[in-house]
Amino acid sequence: MDLRARFVTLAVGTDPKLRRMLTYWAATATLYALFVALLAVESTIGMVPYAGVLGLGLYAASGASTFYVLVRANARLGLRPHTLAGLQGLFGITCNMWAYSITGPLRGATLMGLMVVVVFCTFALRPRQTLLLALCGLLGMGVTMWWHQMQDPLHYPPNVEAVTFVIMAGCSLTVTFLTGEMNKLRARLKERREIVEAALVTIRTLATTDELTSVSNRRHMNEVLEDERGPACIALIDIDFFKQINDRHGHAAGDAVLRAVAHKLRASLRDGDVLARWGGEEFLVLLPATTLIDAHGRIESLRAGMAGLAVPGVDLASRVSFSAGIAARQGHEPFSDTINRADKALYRAKAAGRDRVECATWPVADAIAQ
Ligand code: GH3
Ligand code: MG
Ligand code: MG
Repeated sequence: MDLRARFVTLAVGTDPKLRRMLTYWAATATLYALFVALLAVESTIGMVPYAGVLGLGLYAASGASTFYVLVRANARLGLRPHTLAGLQGLFGITCNMWAYSITGPLRGATLMGLMVVVVFCTFALRPRQTLLLALCGLLGMGVTMWWHQMQDPLHYPPNVEAVTFVIMAGCSLTVTFLTGEMNKLRARLKERREIVEAALVTIRTLATTDELTSVSNRRHMNEVLEDERGPACIALIDIDFFKQINDRHGHAAGDAVLRAVAHKLRASLRDGDVLARWGGEEFLVLLPATTLIDAHGRIESLRAGMAGLAVPGVDLASRVSFSAGIAARQGHEPFSDTINRADKALYRAKAAGRDRVECATWPVADAIAQ
């Protein structure tokens, strides 16, 4: 990591949430800096006392630095977002009171700051907390105005202060109400987005999964096959005499057999293998980057493992078995050709007595046999 990247990581961390919080902090710090700079310019033409601007500048700078440390170290401090926002809001209010006190005839402009404080904090505060903060702001500004008109009624005429206060209170409460409504809207939108996202996950699951066995469905397998570019083997697995299982033990027991076989097959999958229910009691396994000999070995051991498969509702005398046909993909042929050969091999396995695994012959030999 170069020096610059190290400095950035030290200053703003790597967590996106922390970085967003620090962006908000930077926005408020910039606002303080601009405001104090503006007052400093005013002080050069004698409109604002220099000492007052310096005091406010130092106060704002120390407050902003403290909040930077609190936000940056909050992973350790564990302050809740609304606590941090509330503290920042209260600090902003005191800055506003100070600015109002030193800006003389320009003081009306400082009232805007109160709105900014409320709007900024509303993102992290609940509506009631925002209202409380706005009331704190009004109280602080009210006390400041009242104190000045008491001390210096010539420069702070009581009626002007009173009207200013009422306008400010009206604006501040309206802004609080509107931001509260906006927040409710945001919360509703967030809730809807979560519902839509959950629905999308459900739709995707329904579109790709077989409901009974929870393995991939045929549609999903076709998508997977379309994307598969390399060498692979296809195994078509068909449960033997499944109709008899249904007839003897009932459809529910037949379903249980399908689930048990799917479960057993899925347990044998390796990384990259895909298992799908291809039809009623037929499964297709895609074995990428597997030779025909290896594929035969794996499916054969699965077939042998079926002997011990116990399914509730099915007596052990009706032993569950399957027959399988395996084919290796030739070059980049379409998988439909490979599946056709696997199907023919499966047919041979059935014809030879079932409960066995057959491998497809080469396409040329197939053609001659036909
Ligand atoms: P073979 O050994 O030749 O494969 O004989 P089989 O009886 O397994 O094959 P057949 O094609 O004659 O019968 C398949 C049966 O599978 C017929 C159908 O009722 C049943 N089946 C298909 N889908 C389901 C399902 O979802 N649940 C249940 N319980 N049975 C199903
Ligand atoms: Mg079948
Ligand atoms: Mg069958």
